[in-house]
Amino acid sequence: METLSIGQEIIAACEQLGRHSDDPDGLTVAYLSPAHRAVAAELQEAMAAAGLTVTVDALGNVLGRLACGRTGARTLITGSHFDTVRNGGRFDGRLGIVLPIALARHLTETGERLPFDLEVIAFAEEEGLRYASTFLGSSPLVGQFDASVLERSDASGVRMRDAMKDAGLDPDGIAGLRRDPERLLGYYEVHIEQGPVLLQAGEALGVVTSIAGGVRHSCRVIGTAGHAGTVPMPLRHDAGTAAAEMVLALETRCRAAEGVAVVGTAGRFEVVRGATNVIPGECRFTIDLRAAENGPRDRSLADVLQACREIAARRGVGFESELTMNVPATPCTPAWVDALAAAVTALGLPARRMPSGAGHDAMMMGRAMPMAMLFVRCGNGGVSHSPQETMSAADAGQAAAATLGFWRSLGRSVRDLPAGPRE
Ligand SMILES: [Zn+2]
Repeated sequence: METLSIGQEIIAACEQLGRHSDDPDGLTVAYLSPAHRAVAAELQEAMAAAGLTVTVDALGNVLGRLACGRTGARTLITGSHFDTVRNGGRFDGRLGIVLPIALARHLTETGERLPFDLEVIAFAEEEGLRYASTFLGSSPLVGQFDASVLERSDASGVRMRDAMKDAGLDPDGIAGLRRDPERLLGYYEVHIEQGPVLLQAGEALGVVTSIAGGVRHSCRVIGTAGHAGTVPMPLRHDAGTAAAEMVLALETRCRAAEGVAVVGTAGRFEVVRGATNVIPGECRFTIDLRAAENGPRDRSLADVLQACREIAARRGVGFESELTMNVPATPCTPAWVDALAAAVTALGLPARRMPSGAGHDAMMMGRAMPMAMLFVRCGNGGVSHSPQETMSAADAGQAAAATLGFWRSLGRSVRDLPAGPRE
């Protein structure tokens, strides 16, 4: 396989898909928008041209299948999402779709047959831009679809159920998308790193060990509002300064985490009814904590909340916090991690093992089956979720070569299903 030329083909395919956007200036592709439907149509064409058998499921996922022709063969699913965040990047998600399509075309052309069926899935939705419904595309496959999102409305008041019917999809068919894990080999996803680690290390590829789980709290600090000019400093119960100290405690605790890295963010910070000449009486902020393992993450959270309570007691303010999200970390399958690392090493490249700080479809799929994930260096300082996101053709080509090597090694250990009645 000519690595650079397949890399160029992958980059060109991402750029081609990136021409479709809901807004003319950036790259925004929301679930079932006109741009979304155009991308889905192009993916169907690309899959068919690569020799894949194409279907679209009840949710709008685009599936391309390369059957190996052996009775009882299991299926390896590989894919990623083709929706974007508002003003996102061209490689986020799409890389994990067009790379396996390019490889499928290569396999079709060379006549090489893997000993398992390959299924490329372009997931219709992962980012949750339109309906705040993350993992919409992958969740039904593992029986984790939350049917209540069907009744949700978008910013223009269009219910998801109606948007789906309008696009010719079948909301009532979603429950039937669940796959029998027995028939599956597992799930593999290639994704742009979305961070600067590989770029700073000067390395093209990273082997993901675990996908970080996130825990979120919504916090409220209740102090005493007062006149900014008349209340002496020692007599104040300033909710704003208390909350600021709490956020610093969050940062200090995460920076001090040893072993497994923990990242903490207070992405929202608000003085309720704040005014220039009023001592803040109430402040709200959010905590988002992530780590590749649940234990270190939960210990950090407990410490941070304890610090918040101590700060509140010392400053004479009230503190309340409410858990708003708790997603456990998903470890990648150790034997697959080793096989993928070996495939990277076989290319003469370092196989850095690293956690994923961001959530991916692999996290959802990995709850029901073996799973592995490959990261590809993100250019331009590691910026992602932005039109500034870049990737080199050389890196994309190396990712394709590592992927093919990994698939071949999976093929050497694959066991077919026992003979019996087939679907
Ligand atoms: Zn993504």
